[in-house]
Amino acid sequence: MIRLQNITKSFGKHEVLKGIDLTVNKGEVVVILGPSGSGKTTLLRCINYLEKPNDGEVSIGDFTVNCKRPAKKDVLALRQKTAMVFQQYNLFKHKTALENVMEGLVVVRKVKQEEAKKISIEVLEKVGLSEKLNHYPSQLSGGQQQRVGIARALALNPEVILFDEPTSALDPELVGEVLSVIRKIAKEGITMIVVTHEMGFARDVSNHVVFMDGGHIIEEGSPDDIFNRPQEERTKQFLKRIT
Ligand code: ADP
Repeated sequence: MIRLQNITKSFGKHEVLKGIDLTVNKGEVVVILGPSGSGKTTLLRCINYLEKPNDGEVSIGDFTVNCKRPAKKDVLALRQKTAMVFQQYNLFKHKTALENVMEGLVVVRKVKQEEAKKISIEVLEKVGLSEKLNHYPSQLSGGQQQRVGIARALALNPEVILFDEPTSALDPELVGEVLSVIRKIAKEGITMIVVTHEMGFARDVSNHVVFMDGGHIIEEGSPDDIFNRPQEERTKQFLKRIT
């Protein structure tokens, strides 16, 4: 359903992605692990073209973007099929939780106000925030703000949700509530790609683990394969350090 072929990306002379091939099936929860600086976030951002790869192909469903000669309509189609949950939530400070979720539906998807409101209330309920519809970000905890971020992604009904270290800005006591919302969504069969350092979460929620280092995919497989029987020395060393 999602296919990346030979994705390369450089910032100036620094080659950050060195030819990434990855296939993600519908309904899979993919976790991307790897040391800091290995290119995980850049890879995630290449999938929806927040970063423009230098070369390669990104396909989601029937749409393929040839990164050397990207057609604008294919890039737009790619963006329409994805939603991103950011590390720092990226909410509008002067909009309420409800308005933050409605924004993308109304402005990007051209959904009518009434319908957008109905959808937004539903997804905010799903992430446990029906009591906070009219609260502004400053009146919400970090965990609640991130749950608004997740509701905003869900509202768009994308084919894949991309999570960029969704809990790394949170105080430790707030991590659990956000992970449990992501777990709940994963059970509904939404395709997700998650960059995270939460190993417990990676083990029990994902069905496909990708280990990156130095701009390459070093190894990928089921959580059981990667955590219990890693084949590559770099994977073994990383897991030894982090778990
Ligand atoms: P990870 O998510 O694995 O920590 P990143 O994808 O964030 O890794 O970064 C990989 C490398 O690319 C790092 O060396 C980082 O400094 C560099 N990098 C990321 N974004 C930019 C940018 N916009 N400009 C220049 N260098 C960048």
